[in-house]
Amino acid sequence: MISVENLVFEYPGKRALDKLSFQIPQGSITALVGPNGAGKTTLLKCMAALIKPFSGKISIIGIDVLKNPRECHRIIGFLPDFFGLYDSLRVWQVLSYFAMARQVQKEIIPGRVVDAAKKLGIEDRLNDRTGSLSRGMRQRLAIGQSLIHDPDVLLLDEPASGLDPESRYALSKLLLELNSEGKTLIVSSHILAELDEYANDLLILKDGCIVEHSISVKSHKKFRTIIIGLLYMPEDFLQVLLAMENVKSAEIITLEDSTSKDGASKNVRFDFYGDNEKLNELLEKLVADNYKICEFYIKHENVQEQYLKTIK
Ligand code: ATP
Repeated sequence: MISVENLVFEYPGKRALDKLSFQIPQGSITALVGPNGAGKTTLLKCMAALIKPFSGKISIIGIDVLKNPRECHRIIGFLPDFFGLYDSLRVWQVLSYFAMARQVQKEIIPGRVVDAAKKLGIEDRLNDRTGSLSRGMRQRLAIGQSLIHDPDVLLLDEPASGLDPESRYALSKLLLELNSEGKTLIVSSHILAELDEYANDLLILKDGCIVEHSISVKSHKKFRTIIIGLLYMPEDFLQVLLAMENVKSAEIITLEDSTSKDGASKNVRFDFYGDNEKLNELLEKLVADNYKICEFYIKHENVQEQYLKTIK
């Protein structure tokens, strides 16, 4: 539903996007990550039809963004990393203004304003002057302006910046809610741990190029990584494990553990290729063979780990 082909963007003397191509399925939440200067903001601005690339093609729900920027503005909501609000206006006036600017029908604007304010948890601030809002509240209002026209696609550049932990949690919930309404979201963020809560697609940029695009971060892999801890680790334990059905690549790992005497404990990590029943059989066998198991869990690779591995 979103397709980008050979996108090139150049600032004077700097190629910010270098022949980017990717596709994003409808209904996904894509985490757009990368080091400072990777090109995230430039990419989002190109997709929002706010700046014109040097070459390439962007298509969003069948709309050619470069040929029909106005039509694109209708179906896209954009939160810039640095945004301006009208400080002397009241919160409801700001939301109404943006609704009018996006050609929302006049009669439905008051309802939309209240809905957006409720979603963002700022309904009790509708009559306050925007200039009197805290940074976090301003951020919420800015997100509100991006969705006031009920767009199909939301492009959010650092939406969590300036939000306290409670508001960030509320933001994660809001993004999931918007997604469940059928909206497709692309969210750029440096707060990788939180992207895990909502993103199901990961796009990693570096130096204007895509270094990884994994659709369905949370999708079921062919294998699962299992961590197992023993009270006493026999020397031949790795061989024992590797000889078992569906087990591959077993290795000893050291986990930082403040509760153990020396501050670190040894565990084994292995890849398991079977279903839950097979996993249960493996566990029962180890217990029957008298291995003193004190830990046994599935290790999920999160966005942060995937990002750091890729960027390295
Ligand atoms: P950050 O995480 O720091 O926000 P980013 O991934 O969003 O970074 P961009 O802001 O898109 O990166 O910048 C991409 C590259 O383009 C950077 O090298 C940046 O210095 C450069 N750049 C951005 N804006 C301009 C500009 N107006 N003129 C010249 N170069 C620019």
